Amino acid sequence: MDFHVMTLFPEMVSQGLSTSILGRAMSKNLISLECINIRDYSADQKHHKVDDYTYGGGAGMLMQAQPVYDCYKSLESRIDSSHTKRVIYVTPQGKVFNQQLAAEFAQADDLIFLCGHYEGIDERVLEEIVTDYVSIGDYVLTGGELPAMVMIDTISRLVPGVLNNDISAETESFTDGLLEYPQYSRPEEWMGKKVPPILLSGDHKKVDEWRLQMSLERTKERRPELYEAWMAAHPPKPPKKR
Ligand code: SAM
Repeated sequence: MDFHVMTLFPEMVSQGLSTSILGRAMSKNLISLECINIRDYSADQKHHKVDDYTYGGGAGMLMQAQPVYDCYKSLESRIDSSHTKRVIYVTPQGKVFNQQLAAEFAQADDLIFLCGHYEGIDERVLEEIVTDYVSIGDYVLTGGELPAMVMIDTISRLVPGVLNNDISAETESFTDGLLEYPQYSRPEEWMGKKVPPILLSGDHKKVDEWRLQMSLERTKERRPELYEAWMAAHPPKPPKKR
């Protein structure tokens, strides 16, 4: 999986993603990360300007179409044409990112993230190059770098081999539509609180049943809309006929 990030602040993304699990995944060539500075494609040789006032008035500056387009064309020419790719503009006006969308994006060979800044980006270049408009939630950040990092981190965990144990991604919150069950580590008792005895029983079937029950209860309490959707997709089985 090759990630490419078009941004005005490449070091923010490259430094933010190069440690821990993702850093290891990069050194094993399971994923790669290229951060490209849109400013390098400015036609303004002197000041490397990439933004200007918006037509029609209004506060703030807008990123211009030309540097973004030239940056994209240069990047596109370096990507193998047989690769499947998506061009994602991170924007509060997009579809809200979730685990299902992460799994869909993880199928691509190359993911290109376009990060806006200031008031955003000239609409005409977005129409020309973007395949997906994606938001990380209903709030507005100063730039697209953090959203791109959030998405890259989430998608990378789904690339085989990135996690030491790929099973852990399969059992985590949202993968099956529910929140994950509570978990415990040593010691068996801490501050008077005991680990639920079923987890010490060694009975894997009972542990699985308990975990499902806990997932259902937690989801019902904290994310009732997810619980309703899960229940609708898993109606109780009718009793067997005699
Ligand atoms: N004027 C834009 C609007 O009202 O939709 C907001 C621009 S925002 C200040 C600057 C940039 O931050 C955006 O172009 C986008 O790339 C990024 N951004 C801000 N909030 C975001 C969010 N919730 N999800 C994804 N990207 C976001």
